[in-house]
Amino acid sequence: MSPSRAGDFKQCPLLYRFRAVDRLPEVPTRAQVRGTVVHAVLEDLFGLPAGERTPEVAKNLLGPAWERVREERPEFAGLFDSADDPELGEWLLSAEGLLDGYFELEDPRRFEPDARELLVESELPSGVLLRGYVDRVDVAPTGEIRVVDYKTGAAPRLVGEAKALFQMKFYALVLWKLRGVVPRQLRLMYLADKQALAYTPDEAELTRFERTLEAIWEAILRAGRTGDFRPNPSRLCDYCDHKAFCPAFDGTPPPYPGWPEPDASVETPLDRVD
Ligand code: SF4
Repeated sequence: MSPSRAGDFKQCPLLYRFRAVDRLPEVPTRAQVRGTVVHAVLEDLFGLPAGERTPEVAKNLLGPAWERVREERPEFAGLFDSADDPELGEWLLSAEGLLDGYFELEDPRRFEPDARELLVESELPSGVLLRGYVDRVDVAPTGEIRVVDYKTGAAPRLVGEAKALFQMKFYALVLWKLRGVVPRQLRLMYLADKQALAYTPDEAELTRFERTLEAIWEAILRAGRTGDFRPNPSRLCDYCDHKAFCPAFDGTPPPYPGWPEPDASVETPLDRVD
């Protein structure tokens, strides 16, 4: 189970079904792909010596990061008509704006992260495997852990905040299991809004959260057996690609294909940029 798919089920069981069971294709938006590229730049930036991590250097990394992402994900190539498409220039400029937002929030020359784009996995006693990618982990000389997530999406901060905190608690729980220390801080960095949100989890809360994840997984398995994934309309429907198949919008879902084997809990780069 990944935080993205668990969050989908919590938001709307039918959305979970469309993504994880039917695996309906979703057309990546320019904002999502821009987020993927900005994440790649920030990862590259921390690969450089601390003194070189300036806004100018970060902006120079944008072009190569876009080329790399486009090669790795051929489905992104159709976002622009050609390399001369004037909208590509505007899009790269808007990505520079997100990097400016990042530099207003922190100075990457002043610290060395412990890990970037870290794949974390842990199995709960019930056998549920939790898996996800953490944008960045910082460890203070005192051993305190900070989990950092960059938010680059077009959705306003308040719309996605509950989902983002859910995702961060998921990472905090997995890191606690892996490293034996409850992370001191969960930090969400909203690059478009130039705002950061810090949150301090505690052991009791993460223990309750573990039970919540177990309950979500049980509910997913129950729905998976019967095919009864219900729509749960909310303002987040504005960001759903599958309204045409959703009964809440007069659509009809495709016939239930049955529970997939193996389960589809792997996150894609696009999952991580909302
Ligand atoms: S449109 Fe809304 S209710 Fe329907 S599947 Fe998407 S998120 Fe769920």
